[in-house]
Amino acid sequence: MRCICGHIIVDQTDNIPYKGYILPDVHVDKVSDNMTSNIDSLIDATKKGERLEWIENHFKVPPYPTDLKESSMIYDSLSLNEVVQEIFECQNCGRIAIEIGQTNMFKFFKPESDDTKGVLNGGNE
Ligand SMILES: [Zn+2]
Repeated sequence: MRCICGHIIVDQTDNIPYKGYILPDVHVDKVSDNMTSNIDSLIDATKKGERLEWIENHFKVPPYPTDLKESSMIYDSLSLNEVVQEIFECQNCGRIAIEIGQTNMFKFFKPESDDTKGVLNGGNE
């Protein structure tokens, strides 16, 4: 993605210090409820020997694999990509690019102050 200042904002790896996610407040309860209920139901299903049934109830199997770690399945079951918006901070000019919904299109915001220190990642990087 090209910032308005011309800087290319690269999004090709994990753990990017200038990238973040916004979880709108209207989705917070749903995500946390899903997380706790999915953890409980997966533990119950595993105890009863119904782990495979749990996976089939939560995902399309196949293609969804049945040999993932529980933590990966819980993460996937939250479908965060359907509710979070990506946010990037330009390391050159400090502009913030916020995804418009889940459109993969971005709106840019320019900082009011000239302080070039970043706001994501606690101002590091
Ligand atoms: Zn920029």
